[in-house]
Amino acid sequence: MRILVASSEAHPLIKVGGLADVAGSLPVALRDLGQDARLILPAYPQAVKRVRELRTLGDLQLSLSQTQVRILGGLLPNREVPVYLVEAPAYFCREGNPYTDTSGRDWGDNAERFLLFCEAVVRISLGCPILDWRPDILHCNDWQTGLAPALLHRNDQAPGIVFTIHNLAYQGLFDRETFDRLRLPEELWSLDGLEFHQQFSFIKGGIVFADRVNTVSPTYAREVQTLEHGCGLHGLLSALGDRFSGILNGIDYQVWNPAADPHIPQPYDRDSFSLKAENKLALQREFGLPRNEEALLFGYIGRLFAQKGVDLILAILPRLLAQPNVQIIFQGSGETGIEQALLTAQETYPDRIGVFLGYDEVRAHRIEAGSDAFLMPSRFEPCGLNQLYSLRYGTVPIVRRTGGLADTVVDAGMAGIETGKSTGFHFEAPSAEDLWGAVQRSCTLFWQHPQAWRRMALNGMAQDFSWEASARQYLQLYQAALAPARERKALP
Ligand code: ADP
Repeated sequence: MRILVASSEAHPLIKVGGLADVAGSLPVALRDLGQDARLILPAYPQAVKRVRELRTLGDLQLSLSQTQVRILGGLLPNREVPVYLVEAPAYFCREGNPYTDTSGRDWGDNAERFLLFCEAVVRISLGCPILDWRPDILHCNDWQTGLAPALLHRNDQAPGIVFTIHNLAYQGLFDRETFDRLRLPEELWSLDGLEFHQQFSFIKGGIVFADRVNTVSPTYAREVQTLEHGCGLHGLLSALGDRFSGILNGIDYQVWNPAADPHIPQPYDRDSFSLKAENKLALQREFGLPRNEEALLFGYIGRLFAQKGVDLILAILPRLLAQPNVQIIFQGSGETGIEQALLTAQETYPDRIGVFLGYDEVRAHRIEAGSDAFLMPSRFEPCGLNQLYSLRYGTVPIVRRTGGLADTVVDAGMAGIETGKSTGFHFEAPSAEDLWGAVQRSCTLFWQHPQAWRRMALNGMAQDFSWEASARQYLQLYQAALAPARERKALP
């Protein structure tokens, strides 16, 4: 099957969040299963720099965007995955990240930028002379690609279209004037189209017009069909029936493997689990915390936004740190208020809390390897990756029972530890009280039942969340999306 994966980020070319991990890994896993999967991205300077064997394939004139773009082609730096880059320097060559300027403000022309990207994706999906390749399946990801399915609507030559929602909270909403300015077909402005409460919604393009829609865990797929988590789209998603499903993300075990991780001071595996402690000592040194092998060291890595529930951790800090042998390390960046609160907490407890504000992939490996437990108190979590890295690194995850966290971390109590089932701790409500309950249980297990703790960590390390299983499920989804595409083509 020829599969074109369209995404606005892909690791290791450019990354803002979990979408990049998926877009970078899924095509690799699909190719390992014998499929011809390729990637298409905007030509951000970071991506241009990293793509191997980059060459110009040709130019495309885009009618709605009223501009010409250049299509570049090459390979992912570390894998044999073909990549197409849509070059439009006025739109994509900027300081900042794919969505915001350096101060975190959305680019004022995001609608224009991603319309342009979608138009290029559409042209390639329909087969254009500069490419000599045409996909059977177009796999769009998140709102930035939502206009592609909308523009392919009613085109009987369209490939099968799959749209994946990585986070429903980001919808690509703009006003009616923007819709008019983009000169989109008027018929798309309707409740069965891109209109969403008098606004213009990119994500609806994907949800309404793709042949199959999925999100990144079965539990999140159920949650977003409820008023509480549906961000206003629960009715539409429920109405999709069996065209909507959840497929868990995998992780890249070549990158996240404690037995052969070049970024950690002391590699280890299940048989040499006691060596993990060396990483804790190194991490304490790195963050200027007292050397203390007995300490229960909690880690946190992630974007610092309300979604992630870092405020709940901050709320329990006085109680948590009232215990002598507890340390905690935070790494992340995001809202200024949360960043500031972390710095204040560090000033208050300088020998107990380590903070690194910023994005640092290599340091993330050291935190995963050096922590005993990992905190992930997300208010919602479509899939989540860090809990999966934690499981692999024998770093016991403490998670809120929501979305992908509920699907990947098993809290089956003491009995479940012995049978190999329990891999971490759950809590229910997004409240400091409930988080505190789970953290207390983790403290009890760590200090009073060290053998059981070790067993739980080893249970986690034995889990398999590799991409292969997820890729096989995507293949089934693609198969399902091919049927309507065939029907379209058979129409007179
Ligand atoms: P989200 O997509 O909501 O940000 P995920 O858990 O799905 O959350 O994925 C986040 C990805 O970004 C993970 O790979 C995580 O390790 C990484 N990440 C987030 N913040 C940082 C940071 N400050 N330093 C290093 N890696 C980070």
